[in-house]
Amino acid sequence: MATLRFQALAETATRKTVLVEKLDKKSVIFGSNVFNDKTMRQYLTPDAYKAVKNATQYGTKIDRNIAEYVAMGMKEWALSKGVTHYTHWFQPLTGTTAEKHDAFFETSFDGSDPVEKFGGSQLVQQEPDASSFPNGGIRNTFEARGYTAWDPTSPAFIYGTTLCIPTIFVSYTGEALDNKTPLLRALNSIDEAATAVAKYFDKNVKKVTPTLGWEQEYFLVDKALATARPDLNATGRTLLGHTAAKGQQLDDHYFGSIPTRVLNYMRDLENECMLLGIPVKTRHNEVAPGQFELAPIFEETNLAVDHNSLLMDVMQKVAERHDLKVLLHEKPFKGVNGSGKHNNWSMATDTGINLLSPGKTPMSNLQFLTFFINTIKAVYTYEELMRASIASASNDHRLGANEAPPAIISVFIGDQLTKVLNELEGVSKGKLSPEEKTDLKLNVVGKLPDVLLDNTDRNRTSPFAFTGNKFEFRAVGSTANCANPMTTLNAIVAKQLIDFKAEVDALVEKKGLKKDEAIFNVLREYIKQTKNILFEGDGYSDDWQKEAKKRGLSNHKTTPEALKAKVSKKAIALFEELGIMNHVEVEARYEIELEEYAKRIQIEGRVLGDIARNHVIPTAIKYQNTLIENVKGLKEIFGKDFEKLAKEQMTLIKEISEHIEGINSKTEAMIEERKKANNLSSVEKMAEAYCNKVKPFFEEIRYHADKLELLVDDEMWTLVKYRELLFVR
Ligand code: ADP
Ligand code: MG
Repeated sequence: MATLRFQALAETATRKTVLVEKLDKKSVIFGSNVFNDKTMRQYLTPDAYKAVKNATQYGTKIDRNIAEYVAMGMKEWALSKGVTHYTHWFQPLTGTTAEKHDAFFETSFDGSDPVEKFGGSQLVQQEPDASSFPNGGIRNTFEARGYTAWDPTSPAFIYGTTLCIPTIFVSYTGEALDNKTPLLRALNSIDEAATAVAKYFDKNVKKVTPTLGWEQEYFLVDKALATARPDLNATGRTLLGHTAAKGQQLDDHYFGSIPTRVLNYMRDLENECMLLGIPVKTRHNEVAPGQFELAPIFEETNLAVDHNSLLMDVMQKVAERHDLKVLLHEKPFKGVNGSGKHNNWSMATDTGINLLSPGKTPMSNLQFLTFFINTIKAVYTYEELMRASIASASNDHRLGANEAPPAIISVFIGDQLTKVLNELEGVSKGKLSPEEKTDLKLNVVGKLPDVLLDNTDRNRTSPFAFTGNKFEFRAVGSTANCANPMTTLNAIVAKQLIDFKAEVDALVEKKGLKKDEAIFNVLREYIKQTKNILFEGDGYSDDWQKEAKKRGLSNHKTTPEALKAKVSKKAIALFEELGIMNHVEVEARYEIELEEYAKRIQIEGRVLGDIARNHVIPTAIKYQNTLIENVKGLKEIFGKDFEKLAKEQMTLIKEISEHIEGINSKTEAMIEERKKANNLSSVEKMAEAYCNKVKPFFEEIRYHADKLELLVDDEMWTLVKYRELLFVR
């Protein structure tokens, strides 16, 4: 018997529900492990408190003396909560989070005067060894140093017994080595650009904050079962496994009742989130069996990105307590829906207005249309960059294959807004007659609010959809660090708003148009120019692929192809102009992502080869031998009649041999291709080779292995099967 698999199955049968500590009401515990406003008031001097507040709101610098006081307050608070260590918490380009813990403890060199120490300099700066993080060749070896620097806009928090201080990570030559630095710069750009445009409508606006509400999809599997699958452990997905007889065809999982064990996990996770100030709000089953979703109340984008990164870590840690494993991979199971992370995005003013929400007056609606149409224009202009921002080996399983959503970036806005845009397209050139203005105000711009109430989008195939008061970037993968797509989206909209303002101002100054006339004029042209990005139909259909091609939209199905847009002249110009990244930083990222891609496919290839040869083939041979014994026995007993009696067995013996041969020859061929790929000197070529030459063997090898799974005696099969993995009890 295949021991590991059956031991794991036996273990899952005895699982007990893990009791979840009952905590106080959410509103009471929320943020109690965060150095938030309430705590800062208690632990900081008024000067220090004000400095942190100003830094958060207006990006002002905190001077060293003040940092000393902030550190003192933070230390006192942390010690009062049993904290022993502190760490700079950052997001290197590996896509995950990193931390290096130091104790709050110091002595003199002779061992005397032990004290709990944490000062301003420890708060402000640390030097993790940058050489072990990806840097895309930015650092020469002789300056192999980077440092982390405190980001006061994201509050410090306590996780376990460690005080975590959110930081950026940059090289000593000033280049960003992380995901947060360019994000902060992009957020700054859009704040400036959007504030300038918002002032057309309300002079009092001083700040625009981009908002993000992510929806995290994930799978849960039993820990023992996951551990028994080498592919899940090493790659986060199953590289082989035949589909379960019952999958998601009955649609009985979506929004269905949540199994008790899972519900306990969710409760526990929510408790942790509450303590950490992550405002999670909704939880439910997703479409696939074993798939779930968690979504928070939206927040300022930098904080929301940090919270999502932290959440992905916390999810795994909490899962351990429940003997579960979280699969964040975009496509852990073949034939079952994959996971994404919708990024709901909007912009809010410091006067309390959501710029993507229609208001009560024609003027506020014109403001809405301005930001709405500019966003569409930005996505139109930079659709390839948007695609590149979400490219990864694992997300290719969604975008490049027939899964939500397609690799073509388009924008869904719904029937009613399409009509509004059509009407605006008819606005006269230049000055508007008083009648036209009145008509526009009453009938087009004035009518928006009632119109939008029924603009609930249920076209789930769109990668970028307007959903009433926000855009939803749905193509983001479930493993992604949201910083990457958010940096891109906020950068392109910032750039677009800057261009828009220049055009409007020119019409006012040079052509003598009134401000609203100028706005209508520019928007009209944008509507005409950007029609090709709007699409309301079925994103999965073949017709759309053809139509999109005619429209000149890109359709990059693989990561190496999609990533090229990151280093296009257009992209580099955008990032340099806005001061978000210089070309060295952009090129470094491109290289890192290609390298990561190649490595992931390389690992998958190795693991698949191992499993196919060390699990599947030996098992198949063992089973085949029992068949051979059986046939021999039949021959012994029945003599020449045996052939009729052993017909089925003999066919099986042959089939098994054919599949074994299939696995062997394909694995050999794959290894050959891997060798060739590894010898390529350019990382671009290497990623392409892994994509086009190595990866295609995966499906072929899998085909034979999955066939064998169906042929071989269940008792002998060593790998936990789909039907066992997918249904958590
Ligand atoms: P669904 O897309 O599943 O129908 P909702 O549309 O209700 O769900 O909301 C999904 C997410 O959108 C939530 O995480 C919510 O916080 C977020 N969201 C709502 N309004 C905004 C906004 N103005 N900016 C950013 N995110 C928002
Ligand atoms: Mg959604």
